[in-house]
Amino acid sequence: MISSRLQLDSIAVHAGREDLAQLGVHALPLDLSSTNPLPDIEAGGLSYEAMAGGGTPYAEGGAVYGRLWNPTVARFESALARMEHTEAAVAFSSGMAATTAAILATTRETGHRHIVAVRPLYGGTDHLLASGVLGVEATYCTAEGVAAALRPDTALIILETPANPTLDLVDIRAVAEAARGVPVLVDNTFATPILQNPVDFGASMVLHSATKYLGGHGDVIAGVIACDQKQAAALRRVRAITGALLHPLGAYLLHRGLATLPIRVRAQQANAQRVAAWLSTHPSVSRVHYPGIAGDPQGLLDRQMRGTGAMISIDLRGGLEQARHLTSTVRLFTHAVSLGGVDSLIQHPAALTHRPVAPEARPPAGLVRLSIGLEDHEDLMADLDQALAARRPAAAHAGAPHP
Ligand SMILES: *Cc1c(COP(=O)(O)O)cnc(C)c1O
Repeated sequence: MISSRLQLDSIAVHAGREDLAQLGVHALPLDLSSTNPLPDIEAGGLSYEAMAGGGTPYAEGGAVYGRLWNPTVARFESALARMEHTEAAVAFSSGMAATTAAILATTRETGHRHIVAVRPLYGGTDHLLASGVLGVEATYCTAEGVAAALRPDTALIILETPANPTLDLVDIRAVAEAARGVPVLVDNTFATPILQNPVDFGASMVLHSATKYLGGHGDVIAGVIACDQKQAAALRRVRAITGALLHPLGAYLLHRGLATLPIRVRAQQANAQRVAAWLSTHPSVSRVHYPGIAGDPQGLLDRQMRGTGAMISIDLRGGLEQARHLTSTVRLFTHAVSLGGVDSLIQHPAALTHRPVAPEARPPAGLVRLSIGLEDHEDLMADLDQALAARRPAAAHAGAPHP
């Protein structure tokens, strides 16, 4: 184990690589084996039993089968756990597979079937809870409404901060204190472990859609949950049974990318701060959603975050029509869902990522979400400016109502 006194940037470069020198290699090994030679029936059987129950392979028995355990995935998990200040982490084939496992594990452990969900949430999470496919019942509420929403049969509380797509901040400690022992899962996708560590404020599980900033290059779909050993065992058990292990190539790319995560996040954030400030003076924009831009009344930026991140949402004066025009007129931004990569993306949450959300909780038609990448900030602003200027909002025209 590398020294626990290292700073975050050093941990990002070195964590999860402790066994490499012993293996005689410098770069991360990528183990693609779908099955593993068995030493003998007894040792193989013991290893299988340990992993099917959520444990780690029995030393003499090996990994047995690629759905149960993979060393490339395990190295990524131990690195992410270090960065999130947790004992363990469990990686999945997508962020939604990770959320599903958290729900299945906590409902199975407690025998309870009620979930409290603090809105807004990523559209897919909101939809998973409302769809009924996991047989749970969700109560949606605000952060202040958590205590009132709790029931004796509540198995899990889910929240996101900053939230997708409004960038609302939620007081993690306040929710954890209101939780009365019910586990709190915080979706930390937008902040990344560089800007926020939810367990330091009482969260019990930290979820990432690793598809986003952790991957950072738009070429991996993955999810990961950082938590304590007991919860990790319950999650690994669900993962082994349902078959949701992350593919080792994805884990390799994610682990490789962790080394540059701190500098990517800070550079993207520096760009986003400039773009957000500029957008807040733009005549086509009625409101910029960006942490701290309208002040920080609860003091959450100071208390629980180390930065404002690189996601921005804007309300357009021209509403849906201008959103349609903006997203189809940008040239440097790519009109696409997803976020957190080195290149800038733009999308319309109400039509795309938050489409399955109930109408009363869906983002407004004039809201557009930007994921700011590593391009030059002047180029990004110039691109947005031409796309916002090319056609003035409908309201500025003579006023024939849109059919
Ligand atoms: C994308 C996303 C998810 C879902 O992750 P997938 O990897 O797409 O399954 C969950 N939460 C947030 C905040 C997201 O942006």
